[in-house]
Amino acid sequence: MMNKGLFKNLFKEKKLRLSHPRLLIFQELSTAVSPLTPQELYHSLLKKKRRIGLTSIYRSLDLFESLEIVFKIMKGSNVKYKLCELEDHHHHIICKTCGHVVEFDFCDISKWSKKAMESTGYQVTDHQLNFYGFCKACKKVD
Ligand SMILES: [Zn+2]
Ligand SMILES: [Zn+2]
Ligand SMILES: [Zn+2]
Repeated sequence: MMNKGLFKNLFKEKKLRLSHPRLLIFQELSTAVSPLTPQELYHSLLKKKRRIGLTSIYRSLDLFESLEIVFKIMKGSNVKYKLCELEDHHHHIICKTCGHVVEFDFCDISKWSKKAMESTGYQVTDHQLNFYGFCKACKKVD
């Protein structure tokens, strides 16, 4: 899991401003025992006398997501965020029953990415791809 030092380095590397709220949100997520909604983040920060606006929390989470620091778990209208276990580029597989997320670091879509560039003329810089299904515990056996 990404620690504070790596987190700071990443921001430096990407030439992004590491504001105090961003650091606080990161720290809150890294100590959380389970995924948090933006509202839960807001309240737990408030308990520590840190008032960070919900809009600013949403924006930071969006940024963290694009940097692959956090993963957004969506279940119905409920959105929760968890800190990623893996620091480098990776993908997620999500259980549709219990919502459990597993990360894996193999990625084999370079051919696909090349095809996307050729057919659209875009320069591909990154990608996101999630897998969904049922975990071992939730898998239906017949
Ligand atoms: Zn992840
Ligand atoms: Zn499951
Ligand atoms: Zn990939």
